[in-house]
Amino acid sequence: MKHTDDIHSAAREQVRESGLRVTTARVRVLAELSASGGLLSHQDIEQRLGRHRIDRVTLYRVLDSLAEHGLVHRVAGNDRIWRFGVGRGATSGATAGAGASVARELHERHAHFQCSDCGKVVCLSEVAAGRALRVPRGYRAESVELTVRGRCPQCG
Ligand SMILES: [Zn+2]
Ligand SMILES: [Zn+2]
Repeated sequence: MKHTDDIHSAAREQVRESGLRVTTARVRVLAELSASGGLLSHQDIEQRLGRHRIDRVTLYRVLDSLAEHGLVHRVAGNDRIWRFGVGRGATSGATAGAGASVARELHERHAHFQCSDCGKVVCLSEVAAGRALRVPRGYRAESVELTVRGRCPQCG
């Protein structure tokens, strides 16, 4: 388990390197996501921020900007709740421009696992969801989402 300060300084560095302006809210949200080891919903993030809680509108904006710069990715579970995790994973507006880069992103996009009991979602970074994707001639894939459902270790 990494020390909280390390996670915060790493998050600060990541925000800076992405070209985004470094703000306390961005750093805190990214640090919480890094520390969690899984994906978090808006509500999870609010809870984890505790006394550093930021208002909902700001939180949404922070997550949007982090996603646009490839620092986080979002996944909709079967409960229709958006969850966020660190790292690039989605076809976001900023990175998916030309057809070739969309194809590459689809190819590299990883799968997720969702527990059907507690709803927890984790990244299956080794499983490239887009790799198995083949659409008929004349069709063009623009997004792919592969979620494996089952039970997490806590729910057995
Ligand atoms: Zn579970
Ligand atoms: Zn993921």
